[in-house]
Amino acid sequence: MSATIIDGRALAERLRRSIDEELQVLRLSEVAPGLATVLVGDDPAAAAYERHLRRLAEGLGYHYVCERLPAAVEPADALATVGKLNADPRVTGILLLRPLPAHLRHADLDATVDPRKDIEAAHPTNVGLLALGTPRFLPSTPASCFYALDAYLRDSGREPSAFYARALVCVVGRSSTVGKPAQWLALQRDATVIACHSRTDAAGRLGELTRLADVVLVAAGVPKLLRPEMVRPGAIVLDVGFHQLPDGSIVGDVDPRVAEVAEALTPVPGGIGPITDVWLVGNALAAAAIARQVEPRFGSGTARG
Ligand code: NAP
Repeated sequence: MSATIIDGRALAERLRRSIDEELQVLRLSEVAPGLATVLVGDDPAAAAYERHLRRLAEGLGYHYVCERLPAAVEPADALATVGKLNADPRVTGILLLRPLPAHLRHADLDATVDPRKDIEAAHPTNVGLLALGTPRFLPSTPASCFYALDAYLRDSGREPSAFYARALVCVVGRSSTVGKPAQWLALQRDATVIACHSRTDAAGRLGELTRLADVVLVAAGVPKLLRPEMVRPGAIVLDVGFHQLPDGSIVGDVDPRVAEVAEALTPVPGGIGPITDVWLVGNALAAAAIARQVEPRFGSGTARG
């Protein structure tokens, strides 16, 4: 078998168009999205990502602003910058670009973002709402995994709700930003979920458990962790990992040879990553709608309710 490669760039463009269409409708209700990024220091990858988000947001006609802070910024000044964006009514979504310098505590800054503008869904209130099954925003990376999976299922003639009701989903990784919310999103779809982590692997049980699953979502941060013999033939595999190897090549957490046994696979690069970027921008639209007491379509049908 040779897996269908799920084209994340095409899905990202599909998602972007759906945001654009919704925005045209919401403008009639005076919904006006605005995205703010905070860039600390001069990390080239963060700066390139900032330019990419700016293009996406401005291309959709959003208000956009980037706050640039020096690497040695005082923590109080960084918090004050977030406070200024919280108070700006033109800004409906705030994103703190990574990496942050070591002297700034990410959790402190995350908790300072107004939860109504927290498009990363990293504020404790938004994490709690998601865990309760009543999310305000969906965290972009796990939401993008399920956006890709839903789209793949529909495109291949399957109704997602019927699929999930019978599916065993194995999530490898339990981070607060990807693994745990991915488990919650799978549960909210009525899938049966297996949660694996580094101790599962240390106990020698990882492959045994991933091999049971109809869907394996890997977010472990370990290059090529999931090998072909760990995948049930015909399973669908979602690869969240992103690594640049010493030779410059980019790989994910899934060994590309998994394509020999899986039904479908998200590639790296060009899989989950491009969808994630658009999802963040979509969350700024959802925030703008909620601020005007309009129920957004963006994010619905994926976990909101
Ligand atoms: P993280 O915070 O480092 O968490 C990694 C998780 O994987 C932990 O729960 C860890 O278990 C588990 N793990 C580590 N080694 C393992 C092993 N050998 N077997 C099974 N589980 C193992 O990483 P993250 O932020 O979730 O990110 C995961 C990957 O996704 C990284 O490669 C990152 O670059 C990538 N990423 C991509 C996107 C995107 O948009 N595509 C976004 C975010 C992250 P313990 O809890 O036991 O330590």
